[in-house]
Amino acid sequence: MGAIVMSVMLVVGLGLFAITARRRWRLMMAAGAPDPRFNDPAARIAGVLRYVLGQARMFRYRAAGIAHGLIFVGFVVLGLRTVILVARGFVDRPDFGFWLFDDGTLLGNAYGFVKDLLSLLVIVGVSYFLYARLVTRPRRMELSTEGVVILLMILGLMLSDLAYEVNGIVQRGNPTDWPGHAPFAGGLAYLLRHSAAEPLELAGIAGFWLHSMLVLAFLNFLPFGKHFHILTVLPNVLFRNLRGIGRIRSIPDIEGRLERGETLGIKTARDLSWKDALDLYTCTECGRCTDNCPAFNTGKLLSPKHLTIQMRDHMYRNEAALVATAGADGPKGFVDVKGAADESGGQLVPGWIDPEALWACTSCGACEQECPVFITYVDKIIGLRRNLVLEQGTFPDQLQTAFRGLESVGNPYSFPNEQRAAWAEGLDVPLLSDKPDAAVLFWVGCAPSFDDRSRRIARALAQLLKAAGVDFAILGPQEQCTGDPARRAGNEYLFEMFAKNNVETLNGAGVKKIVTTCPHCFNTLRNEYPDFGGRYEVVHHTEFLAQLIREGKLRPQHHVTGSVVFHDSCYLGRYNEIYEPPRELLRRIPGLSVVEAPESRDRGMCCGAGGAQMWKEDEPIRRPGSREGDGKVNHARTRQLLRVLPTAPTGGNGRYVASACPFCKTMLSDGLTDQGHGDVAQLDVAELLWKSVNGA
Ligand code: SF4
Ligand code: SF4
Repeated sequence: MGAIVMSVMLVVGLGLFAITARRRWRLMMAAGAPDPRFNDPAARIAGVLRYVLGQARMFRYRAAGIAHGLIFVGFVVLGLRTVILVARGFVDRPDFGFWLFDDGTLLGNAYGFVKDLLSLLVIVGVSYFLYARLVTRPRRMELSTEGVVILLMILGLMLSDLAYEVNGIVQRGNPTDWPGHAPFAGGLAYLLRHSAAEPLELAGIAGFWLHSMLVLAFLNFLPFGKHFHILTVLPNVLFRNLRGIGRIRSIPDIEGRLERGETLGIKTARDLSWKDALDLYTCTECGRCTDNCPAFNTGKLLSPKHLTIQMRDHMYRNEAALVATAGADGPKGFVDVKGAADESGGQLVPGWIDPEALWACTSCGACEQECPVFITYVDKIIGLRRNLVLEQGTFPDQLQTAFRGLESVGNPYSFPNEQRAAWAEGLDVPLLSDKPDAAVLFWVGCAPSFDDRSRRIARALAQLLKAAGVDFAILGPQEQCTGDPARRAGNEYLFEMFAKNNVETLNGAGVKKIVTTCPHCFNTLRNEYPDFGGRYEVVHHTEFLAQLIREGKLRPQHHVTGSVVFHDSCYLGRYNEIYEPPRELLRRIPGLSVVEAPESRDRGMCCGAGGAQMWKEDEPIRRPGSREGDGKVNHARTRQLLRVLPTAPTGGNGRYVASACPFCKTMLSDGLTDQGHGDVAQLDVAELLWKSVNGA
């Protein structure tokens, strides 16, 4: 009889799950953008071991990480128990455990011991999450019925198994002899030793069947909510982005697509890739991305978590249209968030996502850094922007000025490109055309070429290179913008133009090694130009200068007394994992005391300039009372840095906010001035180092 009931349950439960799984698979494969993810299997498997089995990213939020870790380990170990219990539905033997795991065998007892303790720990973990969801309610999470139901289901799984186990102990032996292989269940059996046998037996039978039913119900519930990640996290981490945040994919055959009037960028879920769809399935809605988003924290409309949810809702609501027209171009039969069926309403933007949210993104990558399941945002946001810019022709007006400058004179500042080398006046810096065999090319970048404050960085570096006897040259008017602002703003066509031109110039000049002060140029030259045939050794000036000091070619000997706090540039730190060289330089300067903000390194907050924000104002505040006051990212970041600088400089000691990026320099120095902190000097690390080397 038990075998028949168990068979029916399995056929119904697994059959229903197979139907849903097939639907999710077909929907995922209907997302049509190509996305090869099978390279470097060793790194992929190592990632699974570290981030799925080791739960490495979960512990960035310690309490939640520990609670999740307990539930995760408990689930893995208890999975075997579930299989054993289902098998006992067919094998009428209460000690059955597939021979090796039979109760009473050495392995069976060892497994029973671990399983017993983990049951307790899972109950502790679930209780923590229930408490967090219902009582403390962290800002990053929302109260969701689904979340509570799942937690109660997990609790039910544990308690039902416990009821079965306790009854088994009582039935099988002497409960006064506390069994060492199940201390928790054995302890309960001991406490219940005087209870009537019949209710205990009933509870055991109910526990057995309830456990099996709950497992199947749980399985079927998963694909309909955020707990789908229990099934999708492993492939999502396995196929995670190994290219890095800073290497955006090109649009294949962009010119042909433009000519043929085909979709450019992400217009609907059809333009996502299978991996993007898997990302959407995998979001746990933990809110860690949003919790670290500078746009969200300064009150903007953008919340990366909600962006995921909106994209997922769009995909689910348009499932039929997506699957029926897989392989076709453009939105056919899509509906918007209100169910309106007109063609434009079915687009992700503005049908489901407010464009204002997209334009608030600084591309800082904090969301991706925090996401425990490796969901990516920057590529999706740029994909959505591409469609707005290239196909719909809608973008913030202020970007028009930058685009016009790029198109007409090759830089977003709209200065004549012939003035590229004007910053170097009086420094006798050679042009590569006059010194074609120079060992190093100093790629200056637009801000240090044209912006007065940033020109000081270029001058400091040029003087340091000369002091160290480095054989270098610059391109001068041959240099153009790398195209980074255009790419991050979604204008891929313009970016490709710059990429191809610059690669032609650099390859034509036989450039092998490049040093640059701008992390945006650095990232594009190092990570993105290889896709266009440009392969160079690209070094950031902080790395280069640190090496020169180590080699004894530069000697910071003059005191620069005071305190300095360093601000990590997102494109240098999170994008390229360069954290130490700028700090090493600062520590080498005698008299300078280096302090750290809690929000530093990979937890550093963006200055607000990345993602083409440099060329426009912040989006308006839409959520008054947000964590960081006046809606300006650079103000918020400056305040964070000032919190750790000693407030009362004495005896001529200086107070410095240091950076290693021309854009950060602009944003932070504005942040200091706007908020009345003119006494704090904002300097690039190279400027501070030059002070110490030169004594000026
Ligand atoms: S990249 Fe930065 S600004 Fe953009 S969504 Fe992520 S955290 Fe927010
Ligand atoms: S994208 Fe990642 S960090 Fe953000 S809510 Fe989803 S799982 Fe959490």
